[in-house]
Amino acid sequence: MGQDIQCQSWKQWQRSRPKPRQESMIGKYYSGPSTKYLVESFVLSSEDRVVLRKGKERKPDPSFKGNSTQFSQLSSAVRGTGKKVKDIDLRTLTFYFDNYIRAVNIVLSRIYRNSKRVEQLGKTLAKYRGKSYILLSKEKDLCYQHNEDIKKLVFGRLHRNVLEQAGRMLLADWTRRQLVISALKVLNDSPEELVTILRRRRIPSFLIRKVRDSCESTKNNGSGYHYAMGVLRQLRLAIDKYILGFTKNTIGWRARQRKKVASLLKDGSPDCQSVINIVESQVKSWVQNGYPFTVPQLRRYSLDFSASTENSTGQGYWFTPDEERENEILLYLKLPPGFNGTHHKDSPYKSKTLTFRFLDWLPRAASQDRRKAEKAEREGNIHRVEQLRFRAAKFEDMHHQLMNTIKLQHTAHRLSRMKQIKHNDLDEIIRLQQKVSRLKGYRRCSPPQLLLRGHKIILRIPFLSPNGPVSSQIFGERKYTTKAGADRGLRAPVALTVERECSFEDFLITVGPLAEKRDRIRKHAYTLTSELARMKNNWESKRSGQSYPAHIMKRDRHVEALWRKVRRLDREIVRQVASQTVWFCEEHRVKRLFFEDLRSFQGHAGSKHVSYNLTSNLWGKIINTVRYMRESLGHSKYSVWTVNPRYTSQTCHQCGEKGVRVRDESSIIESKGGEYFYCSECKEHFHADINAARNIIHVQDSSDVPGGTKVCPVYNER
Ligand SMILES: [Zn+2]
Repeated sequence: MGQDIQCQSWKQWQRSRPKPRQESMIGKYYSGPSTKYLVESFVLSSEDRVVLRKGKERKPDPSFKGNSTQFSQLSSAVRGTGKKVKDIDLRTLTFYFDNYIRAVNIVLSRIYRNSKRVEQLGKTLAKYRGKSYILLSKEKDLCYQHNEDIKKLVFGRLHRNVLEQAGRMLLADWTRRQLVISALKVLNDSPEELVTILRRRRIPSFLIRKVRDSCESTKNNGSGYHYAMGVLRQLRLAIDKYILGFTKNTIGWRARQRKKVASLLKDGSPDCQSVINIVESQVKSWVQNGYPFTVPQLRRYSLDFSASTENSTGQGYWFTPDEERENEILLYLKLPPGFNGTHHKDSPYKSKTLTFRFLDWLPRAASQDRRKAEKAEREGNIHRVEQLRFRAAKFEDMHHQLMNTIKLQHTAHRLSRMKQIKHNDLDEIIRLQQKVSRLKGYRRCSPPQLLLRGHKIILRIPFLSPNGPVSSQIFGERKYTTKAGADRGLRAPVALTVERECSFEDFLITVGPLAEKRDRIRKHAYTLTSELARMKNNWESKRSGQSYPAHIMKRDRHVEALWRKVRRLDREIVRQVASQTVWFCEEHRVKRLFFEDLRSFQGHAGSKHVSYNLTSNLWGKIINTVRYMRESLGHSKYSVWTVNPRYTSQTCHQCGEKGVRVRDESSIIESKGGEYFYCSECKEHFHADINAARNIIHVQDSSDVPGGTKVCPVYNER
């Protein structure tokens, strides 16, 4: 039935309405939070551990292997502990994180005691945008000076992070609350739409837009659409739960819950009218009496040390290059009150220090890439040479950023100590001041993040993306004139096509072996997960209240590790697809790249039957990665667009008529989800994904035919 409606509306739209043109960037440009920086990870080791010189490569450094005493030391260290960090370091850091999280939750609970205060702070924060520390530190019960309980948990600089984190969470929660309130109003005013979202699988986009536009704080926000959709989904979940509770249905699985509610509301179902009445009265009571919101809490075990870029000692972290070991860097963390650290002679935190070390693998990776580039040059593979040279330059740039940061930290520290001495040397102070201001002008990395993953501690350092000078040094001056379109494909994850003066260059990006591997592990993980759920159920029915036995816990860890692996493979797939996309575009001098946007949350027709199809989450990550990589190559931030993919897979890119999917290049009989596309007007076959990708290039051009390219477009500089 849904199919019929779509066909009809398609016809109407094609005959009467001219194609709407996307006029502005608002809402069309997909943006994520962490795109300003390129984040690289370094594994932290305990201070006295010999770092395994793996770098980005799998093999240990050959020069290191030659040093036999060090190598035997290393292998004995690995055999002896098997861990990169000692338990005591790990425990200290975990306590440290606990303190931080407790402090954030204290701040949040104080704010949320009074709902008027939440309202008022949220409103101000929305205007302040990222200055939550300044705002929240003015509050007397949140600031550092007047609160002994917070002073006991964190040191001064860390408290700034606490407030910034709490501010971020408060703002997100406030925005969500605003959206929930306006969504409830919208649903209360139009009962038909309320029934629609409960009946249908997909939330209609006009409703999402209506909710977004009725809420003041998301009206002009680029991501407002996705927020509004998320809120509507959450509301639907709450309503579903309410209905199921009322009708005394206990269903655990979300998909089945949804099915049950949809079936209760079907036309002709005996309970239909009564359920609608229940829902309407509940929504009404939510609008009148307020929705039961929960107080947000921080649970994640990750910590960013600072949100500002000043590099002084108070910040809680400090880098020092190890003089004796090449490219190894010591990281000193300042411990909060109540922890025993160890004294270290170079550490500015004295006895409040926790020390780790890590290998700065950037210079090694850069020289490796230069070597590979030379080899590729001998083989005559020019594109590969370009890629490798660029990557090497990028790594070198990052290394310099890290070194500049360290130099600035040390010089600023020396300067402040110098100023405290009574009979100080004025010339020296002036010299140091000049050096500090010079170093401030250089490219520097941002404050790091620490992540705890089981027995591993990962240091993540955000680097400035190597735009402009780095790429022009490698590529020289280049002219970019063409346009490209990318479609989420059926057989291949991405179909990419570049248009150049009426001719097309196509590229189907495949990640065959990786996708197969991912799928195999995922299937295995699914079976194990359901088995585990059964085992846990059994245990609970027999010995409720007791903790699980060792064999179930072991299973639990195994399943978790499998899902981690799936996610890791996902990340790798994203990286590979994005990199192939970007370099293909670079080869063909693409100025502007168009992606299908994330609005089509349903998979393509027939996508259930193929082995791998990209989830919207992965698609979003690919778009983000591509944009980041293009930015780092020196392209404009607005060189990647997302467009509405409506009808792009149904229309012919040459004439704009509706065509059919067929099985192969000789068939003209429609088969749903077929690999090829046939246009009866042009009497031509195209690969279905390529056809859609070619359409996507022209979605935002104004033309009478959706996606039509009858007239070769003139390139306007926009
Ligand atoms: Zn055609």
